[in-house]
Amino acid sequence: MTSAPDTTTSMRTHRCGEVGLHDVGRTVRVCGWVARRREHGEHLAFVDLRDHTGLVQCVVPGTVDVRSEYVVAVAGVVRARPAGTANPDLATGEVEIGECTVEVLSVAEPPPFAVDDRVDADEHLRIRYRFVDLRRPRMQANLRLRAVINAALRSGMERQGFCEVETPLLWAPTPEGAREFVVPSRLQRGTCYVLPQSPQLAKQLLMGGGMDRYYQIARCLRDEDLRADRQFEFTQLDVEASFVGQEDVLAFVSEAVLDAAERATGTRPPEIERLTWADAMDRFGTDKPDLRFGMELVDLTQTFAGTEVRAFSAPCVKGIVVEGGGGTTRSRLDQLTDQAKQLGAKGLAWFRAVPGEGGTGLDGPLARFLSDDDVVGLVSATGAVAGDLVLVVADEYRTVCAVLGRLRVVLGGSPVSEGPFRFAWIVDFPLFEGVDGDGNPVAAHHPFTMPHPDDLDRLESDPTSVRSQSYDLVLNGWELGSGSVRIHRADIQSRIFAVLGIGPEEAESRFGFLLGAFRHGAPPHAGFAVGIDRLVAIFAGEESIREVIAFPKTQSGSDPMTGAPKPVAPRVLADLGLREVPVPE
Ligand code: ASP
Repeated sequence: MTSAPDTTTSMRTHRCGEVGLHDVGRTVRVCGWVARRREHGEHLAFVDLRDHTGLVQCVVPGTVDVRSEYVVAVAGVVRARPAGTANPDLATGEVEIGECTVEVLSVAEPPPFAVDDRVDADEHLRIRYRFVDLRRPRMQANLRLRAVINAALRSGMERQGFCEVETPLLWAPTPEGAREFVVPSRLQRGTCYVLPQSPQLAKQLLMGGGMDRYYQIARCLRDEDLRADRQFEFTQLDVEASFVGQEDVLAFVSEAVLDAAERATGTRPPEIERLTWADAMDRFGTDKPDLRFGMELVDLTQTFAGTEVRAFSAPCVKGIVVEGGGGTTRSRLDQLTDQAKQLGAKGLAWFRAVPGEGGTGLDGPLARFLSDDDVVGLVSATGAVAGDLVLVVADEYRTVCAVLGRLRVVLGGSPVSEGPFRFAWIVDFPLFEGVDGDGNPVAAHHPFTMPHPDDLDRLESDPTSVRSQSYDLVLNGWELGSGSVRIHRADIQSRIFAVLGIGPEEAESRFGFLLGAFRHGAPPHAGFAVGIDRLVAIFAGEESIREVIAFPKTQSGSDPMTGAPKPVAPRVLADLGLREVPVPE
């Protein structure tokens, strides 16, 4: 047990939220922001003073010239509140500081919004005035939880023999699928550094350098569109280890993440369950399944193998049952159909399960086209009973999964941060996910992932059937991170580059340093990266990672507080050898 730090300073004896009955009779001095001031005639004023630990009521004889958010130091004597005036909603509600003198340390303009969790201020305004927003208890709690989680992750890794190493921010391109931020060089005009999408190559080189077990709480930068779960810069627990395989990595990362979960929630979640990628897709239609609820996808391809219904003669047919959803309105069903179409389906078939003569029957626009066998097959495969809604999609496998996987979450899901916390490891990903416009396979994880040893001989002949040794960690339907066993041999890495359409010369010019490291003795190695922003958001009960980042960008990628990104002076551009040119229409 570490003892609590001494929080007394030359300016204060106590923090506001910690003054209590045990202090009655003591002269104290507290510092903070004025949360509220009330006057009782000319003889008495009440000032509620706030710091990050909470509020305390200060009673000032006479009047006091302070306003909301003034920074003040208050000295006085702690006393129990008069009978009947205690405030049970306040940690300090049984006491007040009486006979106060108030020293103004800083005056403040009226705040742009009330520093109060109950007031819903516009997010743009909150980010513009983040220094005010951060005073709110919710934001204080979020940032402090983040620090607790970081500390738990760090100690979890240290305990397992990992060594923290910092890797460069000015770096060379790393192909991990995202657009990169580019930093022009002043000394070598016409050339650029790239901000790392992740320390992927650096950590692999560290393994070549004999670091054995590396970790870092690393900032990663990707120039991608922003969303609730994505910012330009984000933070990862980045991990790599030598002489290990997949099982070792899953064990290391599980340990650190479960430590963090335990520190954040007070309860250690059970051992993390595991699904194969194929199983996750089949059952949940996604590689990031939310395991907090059922509503699994039911395969109906066989059921409709001999159907006359044209809409159901497709390579793959699947359905989901919405229990008790039979009463869903027509306009809601139309909305769901539109959503299915936006996700790439040709349509969405829906049926209301109704009581029938010989068992459950089906109602809906397509019901009259179904044969008796179709109805019996559909009802028995899905287990639908009267009162349920059945949704069916027929298409290519990936489309069916994408559509029903999404509708499942729309219809059955709950906010990501709502407990219980269901982690899952997803393993056995394919090495490639489809092909690009030039017909080259696209790496599902990144090009440094080791193919499954049993599939290596099909790398050139049938690349999309090759499994990889990569794995993802998922929590409540959010992808928390991914990792893989890496290629550590130059010959296999060159084959992967070739399959990806990166020829030997390009490979040498872009990744010569990595291939060189492999030629100089690289240990077998594997690793992982956990998205800390997402992990903290979920445990903080937040739906957006912006709520757990001190200074986030808005959805449009700007920072209304500093004004970034900003134009730079022509001098600065000239030093870099750059000139602004008009953007082509
Ligand atoms: N570099 C990967 C990422 O950022 C993680 C890893 O493979 O370790 O997603």
